[in-house]
Amino acid sequence: MASVEIRNIRKNFGTVPVIHGVSIDIQDGEFVILVGPSGCGKSTLLRMIAGLESVSGGELRIGPKVVNDMPPKERDIAMVFQNYALYPHMTVADNMAFSLKLKKAPKAEIKARVDRAAEILGLNKLLDRYPRQLSGGQRQRVAMGRAIVRDPQVFLFDEPLSNLDAKLRVAMRTEIKALHQRLKTTTIYVTHDQIEAMTMADKIVVMHDGVVEQVGAPLELYDRPANLFVAGFIGSPA
Ligand code: ADP
Ligand code: MG
Repeated sequence: MASVEIRNIRKNFGTVPVIHGVSIDIQDGEFVILVGPSGCGKSTLLRMIAGLESVSGGELRIGPKVVNDMPPKERDIAMVFQNYALYPHMTVADNMAFSLKLKKAPKAEIKARVDRAAEILGLNKLLDRYPRQLSGGQRQRVAMGRAIVRDPQVFLFDEPLSNLDAKLRVAMRTEIKALHQRLKTTTIYVTHDQIEAMTMADKIVVMHDGVVEQVGAPLELYDRPANLFVAGFIGSPA
């Protein structure tokens, strides 16, 4: 686990500024949700933390290290995307083992890590299946399994439930929270869904047009919104 410090971070695409000096402190083991309307810069911020986008200004720390210029592979993070991005020609076990094989981890260790992740996610009986043979929820679990096997300091989730139907989305919220209770890995979770933010977060960061409008516990934002945007956004579920 590690803390994450986001200090006055800015991002321009060409000459267009999209993140205008965002600062967020994330504690070791915290489950933080970045919420805000589509286009407000959530994914861009997450991708900068992952090292998939360059930083135009400010400082990013993971634990004690400044990571602004550190290649993605060297950052101790694992990201779960909204489109799963599973390899269709690989079994569930191989999908989960892939990053460890790339790192040339010993075979026995790979197996132990995959088995542990499968047990945590209830995937034990599905290890030999291919992605096309899985339901949406099972695919999402495999995507999480690929992150868990790496045992990272930080999990990054980008709208992981947006492709699931409403009922499954509710069930998966509970699963992801249970996973966090168990592993206590620092988690930064992006969503545009207020209900998801209100029910899952230790701490919510409300973003709007590339700035942070307010940071606080769910009830704090609900009871004492800093401005009309937060009041409207938190108060009126989509
Ligand atoms: P969110 O995830 O909150 O929906 P994004 O971070 O994807 O928002 O996008 C924030 C803004 O940056 C949007 O205006 C989007 O069009 C713009 N943007 C995102 N990626 C790029 C890119 N690669 N090039 C140019 N503009 C981009
Ligand atoms: Mg996005």
